[in-house]
Amino acid sequence: MKRGVALEGWRENLHLSAWWIVVIENIEKALAKYWGYDSFLPLQRQAIECIVHGRDSVVVLPTGGGKSLCFQAPAVLLDGLTIVVSPLIALMKDQVDALTECGVAAARIDSSLTPDEYNEAIARVRDKTLKLLYVAPERLVSNGFLSLLDKVELSFIAVDEAHCVSMWGHDFRPEYRQLGILKQRFGKVPVGAYTATATAKVRSDIAEQLHLHEPETLIGSFDRPNLIYKVHHRTDRLKQVCEVLVRHRNESGVIYCIRRKDVESLCAELCAKGYRAAPYHAGMSAEQRQHSQDRFIKEKIDTIVATIAFGMGIDKSNVRYVIHTGMPKSLEHYQQESGRAGRDGLEAECALFYSGGDYGIWKSLMREMEPEARQIALGKLNEMYSYCTGGTCRHHVLLRYFGQDLEKADCGACDLCLGELDSLPNSLEVAQKILSCVARLGEQFGGSYTAQVLVGSRDQRILERRHDELSTHGLLGEHTKHAVHDWIEQLVGQNYLAKVGEYNVLRLTAAGWQVLKGQGQPRLLKPVQKTAKGPGRVAKVAQDSWEGVDEGLFEALRELRRTMAGRKGIPAYLVFGDRALREMARNRPSTPEALLEVKGVGEKKRRQYGKIVLATIQDHCVAHGLDMDL
Ligand code: ADP
Ligand code: ZN
Repeated sequence: MKRGVALEGWRENLHLSAWWIVVIENIEKALAKYWGYDSFLPLQRQAIECIVHGRDSVVVLPTGGGKSLCFQAPAVLLDGLTIVVSPLIALMKDQVDALTECGVAAARIDSSLTPDEYNEAIARVRDKTLKLLYVAPERLVSNGFLSLLDKVELSFIAVDEAHCVSMWGHDFRPEYRQLGILKQRFGKVPVGAYTATATAKVRSDIAEQLHLHEPETLIGSFDRPNLIYKVHHRTDRLKQVCEVLVRHRNESGVIYCIRRKDVESLCAELCAKGYRAAPYHAGMSAEQRQHSQDRFIKEKIDTIVATIAFGMGIDKSNVRYVIHTGMPKSLEHYQQESGRAGRDGLEAECALFYSGGDYGIWKSLMREMEPEARQIALGKLNEMYSYCTGGTCRHHVLLRYFGQDLEKADCGACDLCLGELDSLPNSLEVAQKILSCVARLGEQFGGSYTAQVLVGSRDQRILERRHDELSTHGLLGEHTKHAVHDWIEQLVGQNYLAKVGEYNVLRLTAAGWQVLKGQGQPRLLKPVQKTAKGPGRVAKVAQDSWEGVDEGLFEALRELRRTMAGRKGIPAYLVFGDRALREMARNRPSTPEALLEVKGVGEKKRRQYGKIVLATIQDHCVAHGLDMDL
């Protein structure tokens, strides 16, 4: 189907908007036919409309927001070839394999292809049988490749991971900079840029560097309601990690460690306990890393224990938990790493175990940095630490950090909102004592010093300054300095206090002054050692997604998926996602038509796997006396 500007003949008589509606309707049909989905995720329709209208766009959606479909679905339907620029071979391979599984004509051109594979891809471009072609940026802008593209009709160009063009992003790639020539060379072809990186600076940089023409900017919500965040003080690493793992038997997950030697030791400890885990860090050879990664993606092991070297280019959709055994150095890092969980929209647990020592390690590593960069890095570190110690809903804090707001007060998916942590019954009173001490100290001191004054320390520095004579000295004498320091961090996290300057001097915010007048609801957590409250209520996302699912059948289907994927040599989640398996184990279809109703089952997958899936469901239901076609 041709785009608006290129209408000819009878089509010109049709009102343009009517034409667009037809196109979008057809894209909806393609969505069902190839992907087995019956509706768009938020902003997918708008993103697709931009392409259909011939408009440039910058689309910012969080991980799992469904960015790929924004360009894959229109590519299938529009006339001509869609070019997708992607930074990593692993990403291209994953997407091309997924598209091929769905029955979409897609190929990639990268340095890993054999000459035969390469020639075949070029031949498919020339004979116009291809809908999507994935290429790396440096190849795309080479003269030879551009001349090849001059000879074919292009529907549009999608720039995936578009933050790579910006120096302000977290993954700048100089070769992305050259993509600016695309708009000059193929002026009429719309360009869509897709990223999960949220900052305004990166967004405008993307538009500028790519020379986009009045681009439509679409920005999704960065909340990931299906991620259940939990934060604990680290006391016994192995025990705490195992407590998470037992909740996720046979499920895939990632455990992040700060250092390589922690990766090695934790992985060995887990294997000794019988967990199926493999290590991944930059100190291993490329083959060893590849081996670990392959076994994880093909579900031959459940858990990968890794440094942050692991993750880029991994699109595995059914990661059910991400555990951090140490605190990352910024919320950006945390969001990115924890965000690898639950791409399929199903519930996933993100547990973080931190200690004050982690803060110290990062801070000392920053000592070598240039003053300006160090200041920024320290600010980010402090925000991360506040997240850990804070008594505020985790979803709220993360979202606020990225400049967005969560509408509901109770997210229903973090340790605080689920009631797993106890707060002090007299939080307001304790907060007032702390805030008034900060005020008495003339807002000149940091958290550690203030905590010392509050617990009544007779440290030399305190006596010299005669702070032992303050009315607030010893006001929280029945608590430990550690607990008081944690509460100070919590007040920072809740925006009653701010840390300013190089020395993180505490200042009262406007909200902090209100608390001194008895207004506001600060929430302080009971000291960690005493917080043995155990699990609170179950997150609603987790409850809903398992509602009515026969778990035995789900397991049987998972096993079947693993076998089929193994035979084809593709990742298990590309055969069917967890969401599709759960729906099958819930509805238990008995006919090919009913199977096609399952979200994530398109026509090709039904043809390919329908028979064996239906047989497995049938056998299980007969054996266990279960009803079918619910
Ligand atoms: P992103 O690249 O933004 O992280 P993906 O494109 O990998 O997200 O999509 C995340 C998950 O959502 C995938 O499992 C994908 O199949 C699924 N998905 C995408 N679009 C839809 C849709 N319209 N309905 C249901 N699931 C969808
Ligand atoms: Zn919450």
